[in-house]
Amino acid sequence: MTHVGVVGAGVMGAGVAQNLAQCGHTVALVDRDPDAIKQALSGIETQCRMSRLLGGPEIDAEAVIGRISTDTDLLLLAEAEVVIENITENWELKRALYREMDPVVRPDAVFVANTSAIPITRLASLTKRPRQFVGVHFMNPVPMKPAVELIPGHHTSQAALERVRDLLSSMGKKAIDVNDACGFVSNRVLMLTVNEAAYLVHENVATAETVDEVFRSCFGHPMGPLETADLIGVDTILYSVEVLYEHYADSKYRPCPLLKHMTDAGLHGRKTGEGFYSYGPSATATATGRSAAGGGTDRSPSHD
Ligand code: NAD
Repeated sequence: MTHVGVVGAGVMGAGVAQNLAQCGHTVALVDRDPDAIKQALSGIETQCRMSRLLGGPEIDAEAVIGRISTDTDLLLLAEAEVVIENITENWELKRALYREMDPVVRPDAVFVANTSAIPITRLASLTKRPRQFVGVHFMNPVPMKPAVELIPGHHTSQAALERVRDLLSSMGKKAIDVNDACGFVSNRVLMLTVNEAAYLVHENVATAETVDEVFRSCFGHPMGPLETADLIGVDTILYSVEVLYEHYADSKYRPCPLLKHMTDAGLHGRKTGEGFYSYGPSATATATGRSAAGGGTDRSPSHD
């Protein structure tokens, strides 16, 4: 059993905390937003209680929640052996956090950055422990996904890498080793695909539903790229594409204006109840008829 700090209680932080606690680890969960913490705990409890109904194992929700302590103060992380950072995909926010967190966390602890695209070596340079700094690109929803990308930074020690691999294995995750590069393997491809799919809607070539149907019906993908964008978070997609665009200085990563418009409007996908689709309490997707203007007039009756 490891005592793990988890920073950020959004889509990914909540999933990481749940997965760790389900596997018997104790978790110190920190977010600067108390509402995010509340939402994370209630989401974790619901997921655990519904596990059996959804064909998963029986999970003792009370025991899982009992292993998670929470606070808005980073001091909660002081005794953690490993700290997994999952805050917003924004360089300035991550920079401020690592600067503040490094002196608070015990010196022998390993930092794990869960990022969609930011190079691990760059994040590690924000700390005084680049040897104890590892990148893990978790997949969403974390408790249900069997594999992650495991990324060493330039200075990462073999001991730190193996320590994190062992922790991942205890969470039921296969670690796929990839080298450190902006976007790693998965998001060099996925973010381009989602961004281009958003351009198709922006340019009125097809609706979000049609774009997704092509990927599901023609390619046999379980989800289309815009359903995937709603699951990941439209804001997170935009921030990741912006990181790729800035890093590679390559116009192929130019962020689609529709993603910017939707992010500004709070249409972040499942987590805010509306993105390319609308989600009711049961999280049933309904097409929004999102258009080039980004107006998102709801053409379909809600089935929620
Ligand atoms: P999110 O927007 O759902 O959650 C981010 C959380 O970070 C919010 O609750 C916010 O309050 C909190 N936060 C921001 N600044 C903070 C600070 N200084 N201290 C404490 N908390 C702070 O984002 P997410 O989707 O959970 O993404 C988190 C990270 O994981 C990002 O780097 C993202 O790129 C990466 N990631 C996301 C996905 C995905 O599918 N969403 C998949 C893999 C990796």
